Amino acid sequence: MVTFAAVAVFLVSYVLHGFGVTIGYHRLLSHRSFRCNKLVEYFWVFWGYLAFEGSPIWWAAIHRAHHKYVDTPLDPHSPRYGLFHSWFGWLLEPAYPAHVIPEESCKDLMQDKLYLFLDQDKNIPRMNLLNLGCNLAFRGILWALFGWQVALASLLAAVMVMQIPLMLNLFCHLPKLGYKNFATEDDGVNVWWVGLLGLGEGWHNNHHAYPGSARNGMMAWEFDASYLTILFMRKMGWVHWLNPGPDLSRGLEYYNKKIAAAAAKAASQAVSSVSIVATESEASPSSLINSASRVPNSAPVMAVKANTTPVR
Ligand SMILES: [Zn+2]
Ligand SMILES: [Zn+2]
Repeated sequence: MVTFAAVAVFLVSYVLHGFGVTIGYHRLLSHRSFRCNKLVEYFWVFWGYLAFEGSPIWWAAIHRAHHKYVDTPLDPHSPRYGLFHSWFGWLLEPAYPAHVIPEESCKDLMQDKLYLFLDQDKNIPRMNLLNLGCNLAFRGILWALFGWQVALASLLAAVMVMQIPLMLNLFCHLPKLGYKNFATEDDGVNVWWVGLLGLGEGWHNNHHAYPGSARNGMMAWEFDASYLTILFMRKMGWVHWLNPGPDLSRGLEYYNKKIAAAAAKAASQAVSSVSIVATESEASPSSLINSASRVPNSAPVMAVKANTTPVR
Protein backbone atom coordinates (compact mmCIF):
# COMPACT_ATOMS: atom_id res chain seq x y z
CA MET A 1 0.00 0.00 0.00
CA VAL A 2 1.45 3.34 -1.10
CA THR A 3 1.37 5.79 1.79
CA PHE A 4 0.22 9.39 1.59
CA ALA A 5 3.69 10.43 2.78
CA ALA A 6 5.32 8.66 -0.17
CA VAL A 7 3.05 10.44 -2.69
CA ALA A 8 3.69 13.80 -1.02
CA VAL A 9 7.46 13.19 -0.99
CA PHE A 10 7.35 12.27 -4.68
CA LEU A 11 5.54 15.50 -5.64
CA VAL A 12 7.64 17.78 -3.44
CA SER A 13 10.85 16.05 -4.60
CA TYR A 14 9.88 16.44 -8.27
CA VAL A 15 9.42 20.18 -7.79
CA LEU A 16 12.57 20.66 -5.69
CA HIS A 17 14.84 18.58 -7.94
CA GLY A 18 13.19 20.09 -11.01
CA PHE A 19 13.88 23.65 -9.87
CA GLY A 20 17.36 22.51 -8.87
CA VAL A 21 17.97 21.79 -12.56
CA THR A 22 15.96 24.60 -14.16
CA ILE A 23 16.67 27.43 -11.70
CA GLY A 24 19.99 26.24 -10.27
CA TYR A 25 21.99 24.48 -12.99
CA HIS A 26 20.37 26.14 -15.99
CA ARG A 27 19.18 29.72 -15.46
CA LEU A 28 21.61 30.58 -12.63
CA LEU A 29 24.86 28.68 -13.22
CA SER A 30 24.81 28.25 -17.01
CA HIS A 31 23.26 31.60 -18.01
CA ARG A 32 23.66 33.90 -14.98
CA SER A 33 20.16 35.18 -15.71
CA PHE A 34 19.74 36.33 -12.10
CA ARG A 35 21.95 37.06 -9.11
CA CYS A 36 21.64 35.77 -5.57
CA ASN A 37 23.91 34.95 -2.64
CA LYS A 38 25.83 31.66 -2.32
CA LEU A 39 23.36 30.19 0.13
CA VAL A 40 20.48 30.44 -2.36
CA GLU A 41 22.78 29.22 -5.16
CA TYR A 42 23.93 26.15 -3.19
CA PHE A 43 20.36 25.39 -2.13
CA TRP A 44 19.23 24.94 -5.74
CA VAL A 45 22.46 23.28 -6.87
CA PHE A 46 22.07 20.77 -4.02
CA TRP A 47 18.69 19.64 -5.36
CA GLY A 48 19.96 19.57 -8.94
CA TYR A 49 22.99 17.49 -7.96
CA LEU A 50 20.71 14.99 -6.24
CA ALA A 51 18.79 14.49 -9.50
CA PHE A 52 21.77 12.76 -11.15
CA GLU A 53 22.81 15.93 -12.96
CA GLY A 54 26.57 15.47 -12.50
CA SER A 55 29.03 18.24 -11.77
CA PRO A 56 27.78 21.82 -12.17
CA ILE A 57 30.94 22.74 -14.16
CA TRP A 58 30.47 19.84 -16.58
CA TRP A 59 26.75 20.61 -16.97
CA ALA A 60 27.31 24.32 -17.63
CA ALA A 61 30.27 23.69 -19.97
CA ILE A 62 28.23 21.30 -22.11
CA HIS A 63 25.21 23.59 -22.05
CA ARG A 64 27.16 26.74 -22.95
CA ALA A 65 28.68 24.77 -25.85
CA HIS A 66 25.16 23.78 -26.91
CA HIS A 67 24.15 27.44 -27.14
CA LYS A 68 27.39 28.52 -28.77
CA TYR A 69 27.37 25.86 -31.50
CA VAL A 70 23.63 25.14 -31.59
CA ASP A 71 22.63 22.55 -34.21
CA THR A 72 26.08 22.34 -35.79
CA PRO A 73 28.46 19.37 -35.61
CA LEU A 74 30.09 20.98 -32.56
CA ASP A 75 26.79 21.03 -30.63
CA PRO A 76 27.19 18.27 -27.99
CA HIS A 77 23.64 16.96 -28.46
CA SER A 78 21.83 18.22 -31.55
CA PRO A 79 19.26 15.74 -32.95
CA ARG A 80 20.46 16.67 -36.43
CA TYR A 81 23.24 14.14 -35.88
CA GLY A 82 21.30 11.23 -34.40
CA LEU A 83 18.19 10.96 -32.22
CA PHE A 84 19.64 8.51 -29.69
CA HIS A 85 22.85 10.49 -29.43
CA SER A 86 20.83 13.66 -28.80
CA TRP A 87 18.77 12.05 -26.05
CA PHE A 88 21.19 9.79 -24.15
CA GLY A 89 24.18 8.81 -26.30
CA TRP A 90 26.11 12.00 -25.61
CA LEU A 91 25.98 11.20 -21.88
CA LEU A 92 28.06 8.09 -22.49
CA GLU A 93 31.07 10.11 -23.68
CA PRO A 94 33.92 9.26 -21.26
CA ALA A 95 35.52 12.72 -21.50
CA TYR A 96 34.75 16.36 -22.21
CA PRO A 97 34.54 16.89 -26.00
CA ALA A 98 37.88 18.30 -27.24
CA HIS A 99 36.37 21.69 -28.05
CA VAL A 100 34.56 22.04 -24.69
CA ILE A 101 37.17 23.57 -22.42
CA PRO A 102 35.72 24.51 -19.01
CA GLU A 103 38.85 26.55 -18.14
CA GLU A 104 37.77 28.86 -20.96
CA SER A 105 33.98 28.69 -21.01
CA CYS A 106 33.35 28.26 -17.25
CA LYS A 107 35.98 30.46 -15.62
CA ASP A 108 33.30 31.80 -13.27
CA LEU A 109 32.34 28.36 -11.97
CA MET A 110 35.92 27.18 -11.68
CA GLN A 111 36.50 29.78 -8.94
CA ASP A 112 34.26 27.70 -6.67
CA LYS A 113 36.15 25.00 -4.76
CA LEU A 114 33.05 22.89 -4.19
CA TYR A 115 32.25 22.80 -7.91
CA LEU A 116 35.89 21.98 -8.69
CA PHE A 117 35.75 19.06 -6.27
CA LEU A 118 32.49 17.78 -7.79
CA ASP A 119 34.09 17.94 -11.25
CA GLN A 120 36.89 15.57 -10.16
CA ASP A 121 39.63 17.08 -12.31
CA LYS A 122 37.52 16.72 -15.48
CA ASN A 123 37.59 12.93 -15.05
CA ILE A 124 34.04 12.17 -16.26
CA PRO A 125 33.75 8.55 -14.99
CA ARG A 126 34.99 9.60 -11.54
CA MET A 127 32.72 12.65 -11.59
CA ASN A 128 29.72 10.45 -12.41
CA LEU A 129 30.67 7.88 -9.78
CA LEU A 130 30.82 10.58 -7.10
CA ASN A 131 27.43 11.90 -8.24
CA LEU A 132 25.91 8.42 -8.20
CA GLY A 133 27.39 7.70 -4.76
CA CYS A 134 25.97 10.94 -3.29
CA ASN A 135 22.56 10.24 -4.85
CA LEU A 136 22.42 6.72 -3.41
CA ALA A 137 23.74 7.85 -0.01
CA PHE A 138 21.01 10.52 0.16
CA ARG A 139 18.29 7.92 -0.51
CA GLY A 140 19.97 5.58 1.99
CA ILE A 141 19.65 8.28 4.66
CA LEU A 142 15.99 8.82 3.73
CA TRP A 143 15.41 5.05 3.98
CA ALA A 144 17.03 4.88 7.42
CA LEU A 145 15.04 7.88 8.70
CA PHE A 146 11.65 7.54 7.02
CA GLY A 147 11.42 4.07 5.47
CA TRP A 148 11.78 2.57 2.01
CA GLN A 149 8.66 4.14 0.49
CA VAL A 150 9.89 7.68 1.09
CA ALA A 151 13.38 6.77 -0.21
CA LEU A 152 11.89 5.16 -3.32
CA ALA A 153 9.56 8.13 -3.95
CA SER A 154 12.55 10.50 -3.77
CA LEU A 155 14.57 8.27 -6.12
CA LEU A 156 11.72 8.02 -8.65
CA ALA A 157 11.22 11.79 -8.64
CA ALA A 158 14.95 12.36 -9.19
CA VAL A 159 15.08 9.87 -12.08
CA MET A 160 12.06 11.56 -13.68
CA VAL A 161 13.59 15.00 -13.25
CA MET A 162 16.79 13.71 -14.85
CA GLN A 163 14.68 13.25 -17.97
CA ILE A 164 13.74 16.96 -18.17
CA PRO A 165 16.96 18.21 -19.81
CA LEU A 166 17.42 14.94 -21.72
CA MET A 167 13.98 15.01 -23.37
CA LEU A 168 14.25 18.74 -23.89
CA ASN A 169 17.54 18.37 -25.80
CA LEU A 170 15.74 16.02 -28.19
CA PHE A 171 12.10 17.07 -28.46
CA CYS A 172 12.63 20.84 -28.31
CA HIS A 173 15.08 20.61 -31.23
CA LEU A 174 12.66 18.74 -33.51
CA PRO A 175 10.90 21.59 -35.39
CA LYS A 176 7.84 19.45 -36.22
CA LEU A 177 6.96 19.10 -32.54
CA GLY A 178 6.64 22.76 -31.68
CA TYR A 179 6.39 26.36 -32.79
CA LYS A 180 8.54 29.46 -32.87
CA ASN A 181 7.77 32.96 -31.63
CA PHE A 182 11.18 34.20 -32.74
CA ALA A 183 12.64 33.62 -36.21
CA THR A 184 15.88 32.06 -35.02
CA GLU A 185 17.87 29.92 -37.45
CA ASP A 186 18.48 27.03 -35.05
CA ASP A 187 15.97 24.20 -34.62
CA GLY A 188 14.87 25.14 -31.08
CA VAL A 189 11.07 25.22 -30.74
CA ASN A 190 8.50 25.77 -28.00
CA VAL A 191 6.84 22.47 -27.00
CA TRP A 192 3.93 23.01 -24.61
CA TRP A 193 4.03 19.68 -22.79
CA VAL A 194 7.79 19.99 -22.18
CA GLY A 195 6.99 23.48 -20.90
CA LEU A 196 4.66 21.99 -18.28
CA LEU A 197 6.65 18.88 -17.32
CA GLY A 198 9.91 20.83 -17.44
CA LEU A 199 8.65 23.59 -15.12
CA GLY A 200 8.96 26.24 -17.84
CA GLU A 201 11.95 24.91 -19.76
CA GLY A 202 10.04 23.76 -22.84
CA TRP A 203 9.71 27.28 -24.31
CA HIS A 204 12.98 26.57 -26.01
CA ASN A 205 12.67 28.83 -29.06
CA ASN A 206 12.23 31.77 -26.69
CA HIS A 207 15.23 30.53 -24.72
CA HIS A 208 17.53 30.25 -27.74
CA ALA A 209 16.45 33.70 -28.88
CA TYR A 210 17.11 35.21 -25.41
CA PRO A 211 19.27 32.74 -23.43
CA GLY A 212 20.25 35.37 -20.86
CA SER A 213 16.62 35.96 -19.88
CA ALA A 214 15.47 34.54 -16.53
CA ARG A 215 12.07 34.14 -18.16
CA ASN A 216 11.50 31.43 -20.79
CA GLY A 217 7.70 31.54 -21.10
CA MET A 218 7.06 34.82 -22.89
CA MET A 219 3.49 34.64 -24.18
CA ALA A 220 0.54 34.74 -21.76
CA TRP A 221 -0.13 31.01 -22.25
CA GLU A 222 3.50 29.93 -21.84
CA PHE A 223 3.41 28.92 -18.18
CA ASP A 224 6.86 29.21 -16.65
CA ALA A 225 6.91 27.84 -13.11
CA SER A 226 10.65 28.43 -12.78
CA TYR A 227 10.35 32.13 -13.61
CA LEU A 228 7.46 32.56 -11.19
CA THR A 229 9.66 31.02 -8.50
CA ILE A 230 12.56 33.37 -9.39
CA LEU A 231 10.12 36.30 -9.17
CA PHE A 232 8.98 35.03 -5.76
CA MET A 233 12.61 34.87 -4.61
CA ARG A 234 13.07 38.42 -5.86
CA LYS A 235 10.09 39.56 -3.82
CA MET A 236 11.52 37.85 -0.74
CA GLY A 237 14.88 39.60 -1.27
CA TRP A 238 16.71 36.32 -2.06
CA VAL A 239 17.38 37.42 -5.65
CA HIS A 240 19.15 40.78 -6.08
CA TRP A 241 18.85 41.20 -9.83
CA LEU A 242 17.28 39.38 -12.73
CA ASN A 243 17.20 39.71 -16.48
CA PRO A 244 13.49 39.86 -17.44
CA GLY A 245 14.15 39.31 -21.15
CA PRO A 246 12.66 41.29 -24.03
CA ASP A 247 9.87 43.81 -23.49
CA LEU A 248 7.15 42.16 -25.57
CA SER A 249 4.89 45.20 -25.47
CA ARG A 250 7.01 46.31 -28.46
CA GLY A 251 5.61 43.33 -30.40
CA LEU A 252 7.30 40.26 -31.82
CA GLU A 253 7.91 41.95 -35.16
CA TYR A 254 10.29 44.44 -33.54
CA TYR A 255 12.40 41.62 -32.13
CA ASN A 256 12.26 39.49 -35.25
CA LYS A 257 13.67 42.41 -37.24
CA LYS A 258 16.56 42.58 -34.77
CA ILE A 259 17.06 38.82 -35.08
CA ALA A 260 17.15 39.04 -38.89
CA ALA A 261 19.69 41.88 -38.71
CA ALA A 262 21.88 39.92 -36.26
CA ALA A 263 21.67 36.82 -38.51
CA ALA A 264 22.68 38.82 -41.58
CA LYS A 265 25.64 40.32 -39.72
CA ALA A 266 26.74 36.90 -38.41
CA ALA A 267 26.40 35.42 -41.91
CA SER A 268 28.68 38.07 -43.41
CA GLN A 269 31.23 37.38 -40.65
CA ALA A 270 30.97 33.65 -41.37
CA VAL A 271 31.74 34.26 -45.05
CA SER A 272 34.98 35.97 -44.09
CA SER A 273 35.75 33.07 -41.72
CA VAL A 274 35.26 30.61 -44.58
CA SER A 275 37.85 32.41 -46.67
CA ILE A 276 40.30 32.25 -43.74
CA VAL A 277 39.70 28.52 -43.23
CA ALA A 278 40.01 27.89 -46.96
CA THR A 279 43.54 29.27 -46.96
CA GLU A 280 44.66 26.70 -44.40
CA SER A 281 45.83 23.32 -45.66
CA GLU A 282 43.68 21.53 -43.09
CA ALA A 283 40.88 22.95 -40.95
CA SER A 284 42.04 22.41 -37.38
CA PRO A 285 39.45 22.07 -34.57
CA SER A 286 40.49 25.47 -33.23
CA SER A 287 39.82 27.15 -36.56
CA LEU A 288 36.40 25.52 -36.64
CA ILE A 289 35.69 26.74 -33.13
CA ASN A 290 36.80 30.26 -33.91
CA SER A 291 34.69 30.41 -37.01
CA ALA A 292 31.69 29.23 -35.01
CA SER A 293 32.33 31.51 -32.05
CA ARG A 294 29.50 33.77 -31.11
CA VAL A 295 28.53 35.89 -28.17
CA PRO A 296 30.11 34.80 -24.82
CA ASN A 297 27.63 32.71 -22.90
CA SER A 298 28.35 34.39 -19.60
CA ALA A 299 26.98 37.75 -20.74
CA PRO A 300 23.86 38.78 -18.77
CA VAL A 301 21.91 39.37 -21.96
CA MET A 302 23.03 37.27 -24.85
CA ALA A 303 22.38 38.47 -28.34
CA VAL A 304 20.40 36.40 -30.74
CA LYS A 305 22.64 33.92 -32.44
CA ALA A 306 22.28 32.75 -36.00
CA ASN A 307 23.27 29.32 -37.18
CA THR A 308 26.00 30.59 -39.39
CA THR A 309 28.90 28.32 -38.80
CA PRO A 310 30.44 27.46 -42.17
CA VAL A 311 31.26 23.92 -41.06
CA ARG A 312 28.63 21.27 -41.65
ZN1 LIG B 1 18.64 24.00 -27.24
ZN1 LIG C 1 20.19 27.32 -21.93
